[in-house]
Amino acid sequence: MGFVTRFAPSPTGQLHLGHAYSALLAHDMAQADGGRFLLRIEDTDTARCTPEFETQILDDLAWLGLSWETPVLRQSDNKAAYDAAITRLGNMGLLYPCSCTRGDIRRAASAPQEGAHLLGPDGLIYPGTCRHRAWEDRTDTDAVRLDMARAVDSLRALPHYVDTGIHPASRLTRGPLIQEIGDVVLARRDTGTAAYHLSVVVDDAAQAITHVIRGADLASATPIHVLLQALLGLPTPTYHHHRLIRDDDGKRLAKRDDSRAIALYRAEGATPKDIRRMVGL
Ligand code: GLU
Repeated sequence: MGFVTRFAPSPTGQLHLGHAYSALLAHDMAQADGGRFLLRIEDTDTARCTPEFETQILDDLAWLGLSWETPVLRQSDNKAAYDAAITRLGNMGLLYPCSCTRGDIRRAASAPQEGAHLLGPDGLIYPGTCRHRAWEDRTDTDAVRLDMARAVDSLRALPHYVDTGIHPASRLTRGPLIQEIGDVVLARRDTGTAAYHLSVVVDDAAQAITHVIRGADLASATPIHVLLQALLGLPTPTYHHHRLIRDDDGKRLAKRDDSRAIALYRAEGATPKDIRRMVGL
């Protein structure tokens, strides 16, 4: 099987040095292996994604010297595939509808009887308020949550995965999945759009990705993705979580940190080589 990797930006802001590092590293690793480099636009969050950011990101990537196969997969075109995955997990009895707002969750999670682990990869760990609700009773405005304990117990053995980056290889374990991750959202409230964990798993399989190369900030979400792959009968790629590019104060770069935007460096006359040097490539 050849090496197939991807860069999957969300067009919710400018491409900055951290993204450039991710894209360049994935591209370089694919090239070194005689493999393929694909692009995917992760634009399910319609409230925050804009066509202007998407155009700017593609332009910056081309300027950096990257090329990719076309057509580019856009998540906003792939809703049917996410709905099919939700239906499948729902029919397996692993999902429930949830009407809790952020405020509801904050109040319930801060109640004294709740456990010690409050924060998971998506923020507050869901306290389970709606877990008793039947999947069939879902309404259009409900979110969809994975019942983590049921999901874990539905598998004969928990899967493991390989991480060739800065995190060691891992085997999923029952306790941490339930206590430190919990019942994650797979489709959002009100809009019904697929959440990141579901769309990324469906699309990595649809694009036959063999190597997922991305920042270490997403390493804590990987057990969710590996679990979903096992539940949906999809292959698990090799993961490579790379170091994060930090600003001068050691803080991780965020999309809103426009001072590190590639467009700004370009406007100031930097070359693609300069960018490579700045990120340590
Ligand atoms: N769309 C995600 C982001 O921009 C990346 C997802 C991934 O690489 O798995 O942070």
